[in-house]
Amino acid sequence: MLIYDLTHEALVSFLQTHQHKPYRADQIWNWLYKQKVTTFEAMNNLPDDLIGLLEQHFTIQALELVIKHVSQDGTVKCLYRVHDGHLIESVLMKQHYGDSICVTTQVGCNIGCSFCASGLLKKKRDLTPGEVIAQVLETERLSGKRIAYVVVMGIGEPFDNFDGLLAFLHIINHPKGLAIGARHITVSTSGLVPQIKAYAHVGLQVNLAISLHAPNDAIRSRLMKINKVYPVDEVIGAIKYYLSVTKRRVTIEYILIDGVNDTHEVALELVKKLKGLNVYVNLIPYNEVIEAPYRRSPQATMLAFYDTLKKHKIQVTLRKEQGHDINAACGQLRSQHL
Ligand code: SAH
Ligand code: SF4
Repeated sequence: MLIYDLTHEALVSFLQTHQHKPYRADQIWNWLYKQKVTTFEAMNNLPDDLIGLLEQHFTIQALELVIKHVSQDGTVKCLYRVHDGHLIESVLMKQHYGDSICVTTQVGCNIGCSFCASGLLKKKRDLTPGEVIAQVLETERLSGKRIAYVVVMGIGEPFDNFDGLLAFLHIINHPKGLAIGARHITVSTSGLVPQIKAYAHVGLQVNLAISLHAPNDAIRSRLMKINKVYPVDEVIGAIKYYLSVTKRRVTIEYILIDGVNDTHEVALELVKKLKGLNVYVNLIPYNEVIEAPYRRSPQATMLAFYDTLKKHKIQVTLRKEQGHDINAACGQLRSQHL
């Protein structure tokens, strides 16, 4: 097991089981998440027998770097190999407000959206919470940057790895862990209705983003086969539920794909669906992938879509794409490598 898989409580109980004092957990976490050491040996305020015990029960190396790409705008993309040989990727993006990392939560993805490179590769397994944390630590090390924001938008469906996701969020948010503020963390889901409702009750102030991509079932089912299980109105219903419980604004992600979901009529339909909800729409230029038949909407179409939403008082932004020259969209580096 990876040492990063343990929540603070789990580490305390491990220590107590082995007749060590609970305060050792603070020391170990300080080494892991503040000093960011890469060996147990380096934890030089721990007694030798405790270091031996940790070495015997846990590993501390999670990721092996396969490829690192740096693009002109400062985006750093890392392809990693995990202990059983699977490949995952993390992307570090420079934002004007601080550096942000996009992490992977599963090896592949079973949601199978027709526009997405990750969905083409069936899920092999969930990543453990520690493997997700290791992406943050390792990418920080490799880039020499201090990561201030985390977006859970890499390969995989985070709500299909719900417990792992919660443990990950707990550890990166914990003041003795990475201490990344909940408001600096965003989780993106393809819209798994039961999990959205459950997530409303976990009591974290983490941002939630929903990949809607279409205002009706005809278009959305074509793009996302999960829509057959959780159609648009059920997803909107879950968003309303989440809003009523948490009072926190939700982000609606909407990729613009040429001739599919980007017309004026579709924009008006989207306005109707979202009117009165405390949401803001993040319009995303589609990143073309070799495997999918879709094209990015022309710039003028994207701007017109944006204007329609704006005119109808829907809060909206048009995302500036990043790392386009190194295939920053989710799963693309990995699928090319395979
Ligand atoms: N599985 C989750 C999180 C990972 S995908 C989800 O689907 O929300 C993160 C975001 O990237 C989603 O909004 C997804 O629709 C989008 N995305 C996937 N492939 C893309 C591509 N080729 N271009 C632009 N956005 C893409
Ligand atoms: Fe999975 Fe998200 Fe890609 Fe859909 S967009 S296949 S849910 S990673």
